[in-house]
Amino acid sequence: MRISTITNWAYGITVILTALSAVAFIMSSRSADDERRAVEEHLALDTLTEQLETGAEFSSDEARLYVMRGEQRHLDAFTADAEAERRREKAAEQIAVRDISPVERTIIEAMDKQAEALDALEAAAVDAFQKGEKEASQEALFGPEHERLQTALLESAGRLRDITATRTGAALDDARRRSDQWSLFAKVVLAITGLLFLAVLYFILRRRVAMPLVRMTGIVARLARQDYAVEVPVDHRRDEIGEMNEAIQIFRENGLERERLDAERRADQHTKDLILQMMHRLQACENQHELADVVARFAPQIFPGIAGSLYILNEDKSALAQAGTWLEPVNAQAAFPASACWGLRRGRPHMSGTGEGDVPCQHIEGSGVAASCFPLTAQGDMIGLLYLEERHGAMPVLDHARLYLELIAENVGLAVANLQLREKLTDLAVRDPLTGLFNRRFLDETLHRRGRDNGDTPLACLMIDIDYFKRFNDQFGHDAGDMVMQYVGQILRSAAADIGYAFRFGGEEFTILLPDCEERDGFQFAEKLRGQIGMAALSHSGQILGAVSVSIGVAVSPAEGGVDTLVSRADAALLDAKAKGRNRTILASSLNRPAQETKRA
Ligand code: GH3
Ligand code: MG
Ligand code: MG
Repeated sequence: MRISTITNWAYGITVILTALSAVAFIMSSRSADDERRAVEEHLALDTLTEQLETGAEFSSDEARLYVMRGEQRHLDAFTADAEAERRREKAAEQIAVRDISPVERTIIEAMDKQAEALDALEAAAVDAFQKGEKEASQEALFGPEHERLQTALLESAGRLRDITATRTGAALDDARRRSDQWSLFAKVVLAITGLLFLAVLYFILRRRVAMPLVRMTGIVARLARQDYAVEVPVDHRRDEIGEMNEAIQIFRENGLERERLDAERRADQHTKDLILQMMHRLQACENQHELADVVARFAPQIFPGIAGSLYILNEDKSALAQAGTWLEPVNAQAAFPASACWGLRRGRPHMSGTGEGDVPCQHIEGSGVAASCFPLTAQGDMIGLLYLEERHGAMPVLDHARLYLELIAENVGLAVANLQLREKLTDLAVRDPLTGLFNRRFLDETLHRRGRDNGDTPLACLMIDIDYFKRFNDQFGHDAGDMVMQYVGQILRSAAADIGYAFRFGGEEFTILLPDCEERDGFQFAEKLRGQIGMAALSHSGQILGAVSVSIGVAVSPAEGGVDTLVSRADAALLDAKAKGRNRTILASSLNRPAQETKRA
């Protein structure tokens, strides 16, 4: 029951009980009035009866003294008693008008008649005495008739006194009893009111209000300090305290929800910050290796529950090669065909391995992990793939983080595309389009850098010129000449791949730089090259071009001179090789010596 209902009831009952006790007190007071009136009645009747008695006795005495002594003062007193007579009559009338019983009324009437008879007898006796009939008058006043009337009057007065005393005594007892009863009733009601008040105080104020309030105060204080770990006990009471408890519970739940949202917002902000940091670093990457490293470092920080790999499509878009990986994904193939991925085929993010969901990609088929493939695109061009899988036991986040993952995929795609574009532009700037070798400009740059940074470390330079090249052009056409150029370029490229750099110097002249290479090794390398080039018999458009030979000049630094003179020294050696009949290798260091070391193929 609600506290307000209980207090209303208690209030109502208290008012009723108070009213009852007030009525009881009034009734008790009225009964006391009745009691007082009964006493007054008793006294009044007693006095009136006494007046009747004494009045009769007094006049009889005066009449008797007069007829005995004949003294005038007794006659006067007897005559004056007429006044007393009237008082007696009036007293009788007063008694008669009171609320008296019929018996009392009858007695009063009888007393009245007896008093009148007595008065008449005494008046007649006085008259007779005045007429001289002394004996007769004395006879009348002391005779049996007077005695009878006087005795009867006194008896009647005695009876009346007894009856009125009995009646007024009963009324008095009745009034007193009723007064006592009402008084007792009023006290009992007052006591009940008091007990009720105390009970309400104890049960409502102490047990149902004060104690829960003290408990709630502690809880509210902790909630105010944002300590939402505090337990709010479940209170099923349907009263104000129950409602307050429920409100506190809702407040706590709201606080918890707010904390959860705050934590989510902070985590979200942290994720965004990390993504932003990753994007900045992606922009600054200089090659795919760096880019893959950035993705592999940041991806597990952004989504600790997601393992993955970064794949880059090859040039003809047929296969993917793994560029980086993080958190050890179950499916971590180093390479797979582009057609094995539904994401790449559709050009959209593709979820697989999630039970009865979508068709699984072939590159993850059978592994049973939930995975997503986000194709990397840039300006509509497919570039690679962000492969992601949920780690065992981690929260399922792939779907939840989809938007962020798409954002990451988009940015990684753009960064890869930028790098590839940059690599293409760099290639265009530093490579010769016909042979694929580095161009003359890049050679100059390389030598300049080398002279500046590593001038003290050994470097060998080979200047290579195709012998009688003009003849290929002249006899078989420029295309055949180009083909010869490409053939030589290919051999130089493969030979220098792991140990140095091959350049097209200009026309049909080439340069090879071999770092950490002394003169002797450079010479052997040149001879080996010459042998390889001369081995093949070339043909073009069904025509046999014949063998190709080259002349080579070799110079080294710093043993024989600085990097800045390296090319000119090697070129001088080359000219010397031409001069000496071509198809040979000349060391620049031998040019000034009398005995030259030459070798013929
Ligand atoms: P040598 O043995 O003295 O070096 O004689 P050579 O004929 O090889 O040298 P020469 O300098 O007389 O001729 C070089 C020719 O190479 C001249 C030029 O037309 C030709 N040439 C230069 N660049 C290209 C090219 O890119 N393609 C073709 N097909 N020919 C080129
Ligand atoms: Mg030539
Ligand atoms: Mg030449």
